[in-house]
Amino acid sequence: MKRNVSLEEISDGRLYRANDMVRADCRGCQGCSECCHGMGESIILDPYDAWRLTTGLAVPFAALLQEKVELNVVDGVILPNLRMDAQTEACGFLDADGRCSIHAYRPGICRLFPLGRYYLPEKETELSGEQERAGQAALSGEQERAGQAALSGEQEKAGQAELSGEQEKAGQAKSSGMQELRYTGEFRYFLQVHECPMPNKSKVKVGRWIDTPQLQQYEAYIRRWHSFLEALEQKLPAWDDEQVKNVNVALLKLLFLKPYEAGDFYPQFEERMRMAEGLTRIL
Ligand code: SF4
Ligand code: SF4
Repeated sequence: MKRNVSLEEISDGRLYRANDMVRADCRGCQGCSECCHGMGESIILDPYDAWRLTTGLAVPFAALLQEKVELNVVDGVILPNLRMDAQTEACGFLDADGRCSIHAYRPGICRLFPLGRYYLPEKETELSGEQERAGQAALSGEQERAGQAALSGEQEKAGQAELSGEQEKAGQAKSSGMQELRYTGEFRYFLQVHECPMPNKSKVKVGRWIDTPQLQQYEAYIRRWHSFLEALEQKLPAWDDEQVKNVNVALLKLLFLKPYEAGDFYPQFEERMRMAEGLTRIL
C-alpha cells in the first residue's frame, strides 16, 4: 500500500539499513497495544506471512479468511490484510490481556512497527532491439531478483538465469530507445515518529528489531515481492475487467490459499513466483 506522504513529516528524516541502530525499541510495549487497534486495512499480508501463519498455527489460509483476515483491493491487486473488529477496532489476534496471541507468527508489518519500509524510486532502463525481438531480457542479478525475469526455456529448465558478464553489459547497451521501468524493489527502513506513543525508546539494531531469520534472504524476498506487485500494477490498465479478475483470483490461490509446507519458505515461493510471472506475462 502506497502512502503519499512526505517522509520528512512522518519520520526522523533518516533512512536505515538492517545493520543500523534505530530508536525503535519500546521495551516490550509495557501494556500498550495501540498499534493493534484501528489499523484499518493497513496490515497487509504477503506470501511469507501466509506461510508463517498457516504453518505456525497449523490452520489453512481459508480458515484465517473466515475471521481474522480479510481481502481488499490494494492498487488494483487483491491482497489479504488483518481484520480489525468492527466494534473494538482491535486485531482479531489480540488477546484479552492486550497481548498478541500469535507473537511468534505475527506478520512482517507488525514486526517492523514503528519502522516502515521506504522503496527507493525505480530506475528507467532501455531495452536493446535484440532483447525486444527475443522477448527475453539479458538481466542483471538485480533485475532477476526484481521479479522481471523473462527467462528463456533453457534458463527456466535450469531453474535459474546464469548470466554472463557480456549479457549483463548488454542489458544497458544497444538501445532501441524503448524505455521501461526497472523494478528493483530496493528499500530502506524509516522510523515513524508519530505512530508509537511509548516515550524514551531504546536504540536497537534494525535487523534485531525485525526479528526474522535469514534476514538477507528475507530482504531479497521483500524486494522481489514488491517488484512483482509494482510490475503487476503497471500491467493492469492494459487488461479488461475479466482478465484482471481472473489474474487476481489465480494469484490469490497460488500465493496465499494453496497450502505451504512447513519447511523452507523460499524455494516454495520461488516456484510459485515463476508460475505467477508466467501467468501475468501471457496476458
Ligand atoms: S504503539 Fe508502540 S508501545 Fe504500543 S504496542 Fe505498538 S509498538 Fe508497542
Ligand atoms: S498480529 Fe499481533 S502484533 Fe499484529 S496487530 Fe494483531 S495482535 Fe497486534
